[in-house]
Amino acid sequence: MSPLLRSLVQVTKRQGKHLLRALHGQQALTPSFACMTLDLDDVAAARQALAERGRWTDDDVVRHFAATFARWNGSQHASAFASGREALTAAVRALALPEGAEILLPGYTCVAVPNALRFAGCVPRFADIELDTFGLSAQAAERALTPNTRALVIQHTYGLVSRDYEALLDLARRKRLRVIEDCAHATGSTWNGKKVGNRGDVAIYSSEQSKVFCTGQGGLVTTNDQAVATRLIAQWQDAGRCRDEHVEHLLYSLIVGYYQHKAPLRHLLGDVLEIMHARHRLQATSEAELRGERPPEYGRRMSPAIAAQGLVQLEKLEHYAVLRRAAWTRWDEWAQREGRDTPRVLAGSQPAALRYPLLVTPTEKRDTTWVETQLAVPAGVWFATHLHPSTQPVTGCPQADLAVARCINLPTLVA
Ligand SMILES: *Cc1c(COP(=O)(O)O)cnc(C)c1O
Repeated sequence: MSPLLRSLVQVTKRQGKHLLRALHGQQALTPSFACMTLDLDDVAAARQALAERGRWTDDDVVRHFAATFARWNGSQHASAFASGREALTAAVRALALPEGAEILLPGYTCVAVPNALRFAGCVPRFADIELDTFGLSAQAAERALTPNTRALVIQHTYGLVSRDYEALLDLARRKRLRVIEDCAHATGSTWNGKKVGNRGDVAIYSSEQSKVFCTGQGGLVTTNDQAVATRLIAQWQDAGRCRDEHVEHLLYSLIVGYYQHKAPLRHLLGDVLEIMHARHRLQATSEAELRGERPPEYGRRMSPAIAAQGLVQLEKLEHYAVLRRAAWTRWDEWAQREGRDTPRVLAGSQPAALRYPLLVTPTEKRDTTWVETQLAVPAGVWFATHLHPSTQPVTGCPQADLAVARCINLPTLVA
């Protein structure tokens, strides 16, 4: 199907849904999980970048963005790549592990994570999670160790600081493992006053449109280890650039994303802009990636045009974090009134509150229309599978099985 036709089909479906909701006397607009930190200043920056193509090779902007992020994050070094997954591959390579080293990771994540480890020449090995914060269980990780295990991934899921943060760091110290923190959901989450990502050897962040902040696609690696930083800088310098066509798609996706998810009158404007810019549509994870294949241009550094968007977003991160945490509190109050379990916020931590996870019954997860009817928000199904959105199975992780069957999530930003 041509991009234009695909857009027209989607727009027709969406307008039909708005109409149905209106006929049932329901609110036509529901909040979204995507692009919620975009505002008119982001749109202005994207339009300016589209008008100044001569600057798309000015890597000083990328260095400046990475340095600004490092300072904000309390880290000694940051490098910016084209996506979180590409940042993760760079992060693992910068650890200089032996070829074929095994890396432990939670069996409840997105498929981009094990792929990124494999693309760095390592072997992903899954261990079970805990259901308090949906992170890697230290006990399960210890049981899954083999003589080839060289590193583990601490994933701060939904923006919650991982329950076993300390225990996993301790396990790594005892077994001499390197620690990779996956902060793709947790940019800005703090633990004892310090931002997550600063306790392991290396950490990654994502600014994909459904994450804590949004540049369409984008990723960062941080480290406080000088040797790792030196290798990261070398890799970044060797990394390819994003093609101009891709940068153009990203900038248009930001403009359309704002009008589709955030703008007043988005139920009309979003669709108009989507049809206008149908040929600039992006896909988060390609079919080839779902099969575990390395995309042809994988390993690119961030484009200067996207780094400029990142600088605009960074200014607003704190503002949106406050709003997200306020929504989190309201969801907590609702869950308590309903007699449902609330997610566990680790004492001493302040979560970035990307999404509010909720354990419901498998029936309630199978069909989530009740969420929209009762709460006027959509239900997120992160993660609908162990390696979302891939359906390839992960076995031997019973708590992850439960999360797949029972965890839904609610948005923490409304427009
Ligand atoms: C999204 C995500 C990533 C990868 O980020 P991209 O920017 O989409 O490549 C890594 N880890 C987790 C847990 C994620 O959800």
